[in-house]
Formats: sequence, C-alpha cells, structure tokens
Amino acid sequence: MHYEILTLFPDMLDNYFNTSIIGRARAKGLFTLNTNDIRSYTKDKHRRVDDSPYGGGFGLVMACQPIVDCIRDVKKRLNGSVRTIYFSPQGSLFNQQKAKELLQYDNLILLCGHYEGIDERVIELEIDEEISIGDYVLTGGEIAAEIVVDATARLLEGVLKDPECYEKESLSDGLLEYPQYTRPRVFEGLEVPEVLVNGNHAEIKKWQAEQSLLRTLKKRPDLIKTDNEEKKKC
Ligand code: SAM
Repeated sequence: MHYEILTLFPDMLDNYFNTSIIGRARAKGLFTLNTNDIRSYTKDKHRRVDDSPYGGGFGLVMACQPIVDCIRDVKKRLNGSVRTIYFSPQGSLFNQQKAKELLQYDNLILLCGHYEGIDERVIELEIDEEISIGDYVLTGGEIAAEIVVDATARLLEGVLKDPECYEKESLSDGLLEYPQYTRPRVFEGLEVPEVLVNGNHAEIKKWQAEQSLLRTLKKRPDLIKTDNEEKKKC
C-alpha cells in the first residue's frame, strides 16, 4: 500500500507516522507514505491557498487550483489502482469494514481540508469518495488521515506479528473482544478470572466467546442484528 497525503500542514503528521507500530512498519517498508504540501502548488503571488466564499458567510474556503494541481501531480507519479479520498464531516462514516475495503487499492490519495473546507469543484473533478471519521466537526482532516492510515496499515501483512491480532479483535467479526488481563494475577483485590489461568484451552476459548457476546450485548447491542431486524429489511 502506498499513501499520498495532501495537506497544508505536513508537520502535523510526521510524528505520528514515524512512531510506534506504524513508524516501525513504515521504516521496514511494509507500506510507503508521502506527504504533499498543498501550498507549494499555489500559483497565487502571495502564496494564498484560500479565499472568501461566494455568496458570503464565515471563514475561508480552500481554492481549486492548488489542490487540483497537487492531486494531478501526485497521480502522475503513481502506478496501479488509486482511490482519491477527501476527508469531510459530510462523508460516509469510517469503520473497520471500510478499512478492509480500502486495502484493495494500491494507492490511497488522502486530501485533508482545513478552514471551511474545499471548493466543491475539487470534489466533482478529482474525488472518488468522501469519508468522515465521526459525527463531529474538526478543524482539519489531518487527524482523519492518521486514523485511516493507522486502521488500514495495521491490516497489511507483517505490520502486526500475527493476523490473529486483528482477525479476533473488536469489530472484525461483528463482535467486541473479550476482556484481557496481564500480570499481576491480583491487583488491588481484583483477581484475573480463574478460567484464564487453569491452562484448559478449550475452556478458555469458550469463556472468551461467551464474554465477547455478553459485552457486545451490553456495550454495543446495535452490532448484533436480530432476526426481526433482518426480516424488516426484506
Ligand atoms: N464547512 C465544512 C462543513 O460544514 O461540512 C466543515 C469544514 S471543517 C471545519 C474543516 C476540514 O476538517 C474539512 O475540510 C475536513 O477535511 C476536516 N474534517 C472536519 N470534520 C471531519 C470529520 N468528521 N471527518 C473527516 N474530516 C473532517
């Protein structure tokens, strides 16, 4: 997977993509990532990249020219399939399923907006898909880019030690993960459940499956589609 991130603030991203699991995977070449400074593409003599909105209203809108030129320049450098994504609170909500779907592309171009967002014509001309990371409004799309890179890159071969790490975890199979414990066995009077220390692997698996179902019912009942809900859809 190759990521191209388009932003007005490349410095915001460097630390994240060079640290911890994602940073190590990048250093090993398990994925590649490039940040592009949209401002370096502006043809405005004052290096402006934004302007007031037509029709009035608050704030500034990021203009077409620098963004479109930046996207087209980036596309010229890429081989293989490309998906161009704009981060927006108006996009479809990002989730684990979407993270898996995005793995089908060789390249993801991730456009981060700022201020009041971007000129609508950029979306018409160059964007395949708008993605939102939640029903709230951020100052910019950079955090969304970090989230999408993180959630997709950790599914790539070799990034995590074992595919079980993500195959068995929350949301991957439609359920939340069972509770996890590590040493010490007793902490402030709270004991690790006996079943996890008795060495009986069949019992442990049964307990984990039950706990997974129980906590999904308790914390995220919306994830469990009942027969009635399925029938209503038909
Ligand atoms: N005026 C826009 C609107 O009402 O739809 C909101 C613009 S927002 C203040 C600035 C930028 O932050 C957006 O262009 C987008 O890239 C990013 N952003 C804000 N909220 C987001 C969200 N929930 N998901 C993804 N990106 C978001």
